[in-house]
Amino acid sequence: MRKLLESDSLIQINLIASYLQSNGVTTKILNEHQSSIRSVVSFNRPVHPELWVHPEQFEIAAKLVGRYQHDQESNDSSSEIEWLCKKCKESNPGNFMSCWSCGGLN
Ligand SMILES: [Zn+2]
Repeated sequence: MRKLLESDSLIQINLIASYLQSNGVTTKILNEHQSSIRSVVSFNRPVHPELWVHPEQFEIAAKLVGRYQHDQESNDSSSEIEWLCKKCKESNPGNFMSCWSCGGLN
């Protein structure tokens, strides 16, 4: 197995793992129970959950993670606050670069 990524958020690791699995990638999560062993194993260094994949699937997994994170980002930007067009006063979603109505720039 090869380490794909680590995160301080186990929720995010689990989300990415299930996303990869739905795309046919076998995943393994290490340090899943970090909170219970942290005080014993690593005193000063926090142990983050790690996502591991099969070396043969590493490249496709890395691409899938990139796509997954890109999707997350575009979802975020679509929920941005609307802006008002200076020309025609129409309101536009935050991810629109130019006005849907008249094409004026934000
Ligand atoms: Zn406009």
